[in-house]
Amino acid sequence: MIDSHCHLDFEIFDDQRQRLLSQCADLDIDGIIIPGIEPVQWQKLQRLTAIQSGDCRLWAACGVHPWWLPDVEPCKTDYGQRFDHQIAQTSMIAIGECGLDGAIATPIEHQLPWFEWHLQRACDLQLPLIVHAHRAHNDVIRMLSRYRPTAGGVIHGFSGSVEMALQYWQLGFYIGVGGTITYERAAKTRRAVSQLPLESLLLETDAPDMPLQGFQGQSNSPLQLPEVAKSLAHLRNEPLSELKQVISTNTRQLFKLG
Ligand SMILES: [Zn+2]
Repeated sequence: MIDSHCHLDFEIFDDQRQRLLSQCADLDIDGIIIPGIEPVQWQKLQRLTAIQSGDCRLWAACGVHPWWLPDVEPCKTDYGQRFDHQIAQTSMIAIGECGLDGAIATPIEHQLPWFEWHLQRACDLQLPLIVHAHRAHNDVIRMLSRYRPTAGGVIHGFSGSVEMALQYWQLGFYIGVGGTITYERAAKTRRAVSQLPLESLLLETDAPDMPLQGFQGQSNSPLQLPEVAKSLAHLRNEPLSELKQVISTNTRQLFKLG
């Protein structure tokens, strides 16, 4: 299994990262993709992915998360240069996370130029995108339809209807399934992930965010990935081993992992 979205670089994991990675390997989690959130953090990603030890591999992506836009706005003029430098220096496997969030103080109009910039770069570099789409699905779909990034990507931490998810899938975007589906109240999302083709799904924890049901208020961990997989297999009424195998193939195909 691969955790397709985990912020393992966050400070909260600093004193337990090595231990976590060996525990991940014991749980059959053989890789973790760490998304980019802002330029000052990319260096750390570079360091983490350069030291590969053990059986749980790390990969990284490069981008700006909409929540961090106020931090990045002042260095807007040299952002492109820093991004290109980072992409050239390291083996970043994707662009992101980037996207739109309709529930934060930064207005969508201010987020849009940043999202479009990353979409254009994804088209130019033929790299997949890791997209954050929260309360902004219509705007995200409009942008993806306009740019049609050929290497596709993933709508991470998807929450929404099956119709919405199918629109993304038709645009070449996988659906990132995380801890949301462990909550009974997430009926719409649960129905969506149980009806979508298995070939369209990826698994993620989004740790330290998105704690599973029963762990509210605690910080999430990549060690919860098997629980997300179990919950998905239960909702879909499919054998767990087959589900894990297909989703692992989906992840490797999208991000062109060896
Ligand atoms: Zn994230």
